[in-house]
Amino acid sequence: MSFLHLKDITKLYHKNTEIPAVHSVSLNIEKGEIISLLGPSGCGKTTTLRMIAGFEQPSEGTIELDGRMISSGEKAVAPEKRNIGMVFQDYALFPHLTIKKNVMFGLNQWKTREKRKRADEVLDLVGLASYGNRYPNELSGGQQQRVALARALAPKPNLILMDEPFSNLDAGLREKMRYDVTRILRETGTTAIIVTHDQKDAFAVSDRIVVMKEGEVQQIASPKEMYRCPKNCFVAQFVGKTNLMAGTMCQDLKHVDTHIGKVCLASHSEEMIENVKISIRPEGCRLSEEGRYNGVVETVTYGGEFQELTVRLNGSTEEAMSIYAPVETDIEPGSVVSFDITPELVALVE
Ligand code: ATP
Repeated sequence: MSFLHLKDITKLYHKNTEIPAVHSVSLNIEKGEIISLLGPSGCGKTTTLRMIAGFEQPSEGTIELDGRMISSGEKAVAPEKRNIGMVFQDYALFPHLTIKKNVMFGLNQWKTREKRKRADEVLDLVGLASYGNRYPNELSGGQQQRVALARALAPKPNLILMDEPFSNLDAGLREKMRYDVTRILRETGTTAIIVTHDQKDAFAVSDRIVVMKEGEVQQIASPKEMYRCPKNCFVAQFVGKTNLMAGTMCQDLKHVDTHIGKVCLASHSEEMIENVKISIRPEGCRLSEEGRYNGVVETVTYGGEFQELTVRLNGSTEEAMSIYAPVETDIEPGSVVSFDITPELVALVE
């Protein structure tokens, strides 16, 4: 049995609404895993997190944590009895308490001496050992977030839940905090679920990502698998940029005939479905003088690490393809280019 087991969780906020906020979500999480719930606004990420925390009761389904049923039918273990730590988007620190007292707050069952010792320990862990006597408004956003994490870790929870933990941080700090938070969670062997709508957050911190849409799970996979083998058009487009095209499966089950010609898949298809769709990642298209595919560049957008080209394949009336080219290559709109496609970045999608 997994460490955290969600079975067919559904949440209807109002009995008379037909569309559930979360619909039949099942998820198994192992001890020490870091999981991201990723999806657009309103897809049910926060509701799922709140049901695990115990702030909302599922309309249907069960939740088990560390071998204990914490939510089933009408029965629910109270949030404070679940041994789950929570880090909120706005950190929710008490402004009138020092950093150390903020951290000690969640330890009210502990003896005072033990509380102080544990607060020092976790503040040290998050690199804020010398900040205990300051107040939250005397700390930067990144430091406040580390205090929130220290406070959540202090009672040695079974599980940490983080709701959009990086969204209040600017780009540079965000990157650093992704690294810091992951390091701290790994060092402490903490199992964590992170809610985010940002693909980069999810890719940087997670062992596995759960992509949701309209209350339903679309795919559960490691970041690499999710990127290389998106299950459907929604995942392919939500997780990175892609070129979607319709085609016909060839008899060898390894190529798909499309408007740009035959495209090779990373592996053989398991079944013969005639009409299929494929996703081709822009970085899977490599410019090459003798490339198999030819087209005319319509636009060039400089992206810093690469330049994004839109290329109209010869004679095609379909949408132009998006291709990433190295920044050192001189290309202008109107240039004629040839390219090959790396099969590893081509996937069959539903
Ligand atoms: P965001 O990224 O914008 O926070 P989310 O993916 O976390 O979105 P949820 O907050 O879980 O999405 O909301 C899922 C659906 O449930 C939405 O349609 C939302 O309007 C609805 N919802 C959320 N909370 C409540 C509530 N307390 N009462 C009624 N409906 C709610």
